[in-house]
Amino acid sequence: MRITSGWASGADRKQSPNIDKGHRSRECIVLHYTAGYTAASAIATFASPAGKSSAHFVVETDGRVTQMVNCNDTAWHAGGSVFRGGGQVNRRSIGIEIVNPGYHFRSTTGQILNWERKPIPASRLAPFPGMIEARDPWVGSATALWPLYPEAQLAAVEAIIRACIAAYPSIAEVVGHRDVDTVRRLKVDPGPAFPMPRMRRILGDRQDPADAGGVVLVVDSPTTPLNIRGGPGTSFDKLDRGPLRHGLEVVELEVRGDWIKVRVGDGNSAFEGWCFGEYLRPKG
Ligand SMILES: [Zn+2]
Repeated sequence: MRITSGWASGADRKQSPNIDKGHRSRECIVLHYTAGYTAASAIATFASPAGKSSAHFVVETDGRVTQMVNCNDTAWHAGGSVFRGGGQVNRRSIGIEIVNPGYHFRSTTGQILNWERKPIPASRLAPFPGMIEARDPWVGSATALWPLYPEAQLAAVEAIIRACIAAYPSIAEVVGHRDVDTVRRLKVDPGPAFPMPRMRRILGDRQDPADAGGVVLVVDSPTTPLNIRGGPGTSFDKLDRGPLRHGLEVVELEVRGDWIKVRVGDGNSAFEGWCFGEYLRPKG
């Protein structure tokens, strides 16, 4: 997965009306569970103005990803939260909603009850690979059952996080909704069944792509050659050694927002500069 102009490759798109245009900064990724059993119910809520909420991404149990808000716009997923002492977390974050119904209980007769303590058929929990038992003061003194997250879904969340931190190097932390809802204390998601350490570790893996041999990109600009500039934006001068012809292969060095720093050629004749990412696609 790769984010270009705020949209992720490999994700379905369904625009939510519940957004603020633009984004102040991208400092963290906030992970949520949907408190529902299917992506369809979450997508319907976020697609409706009456839902008054949204997230950049919704991840189904089978790993299918739907993007509902461009990463360059603000989604409504963490209102009233606090991150690193500051508010306006929506304007400072990317929100990922992961389909999971959250806590359940077991009745004295062995029935599974939902959070409202109403019995639910076992078939609704079929997509989830079992449940863990955990007490959480947020839920009360009873032991609650927390559905586990399927591996395909976790792999998809990882892919989104990797794509986001590649596109937005300003992202400094991956947090759960609970971690930032510290004033209202209304949220427990994504809950104890979610492997937060696994997601947090991804930030530690961030490396200079040039060290790893580099991702090869192909210039995809059939009508006009692609300008290459001294910095990430149109305010930087075009390099004399550009523009780059359609079909040329370059190596990705760094991503900053919509701009990608590339190396062109190799050996003594190689040079580096910045191109608008819309016109570069991964090779193959
Ligand atoms: Zn949440």
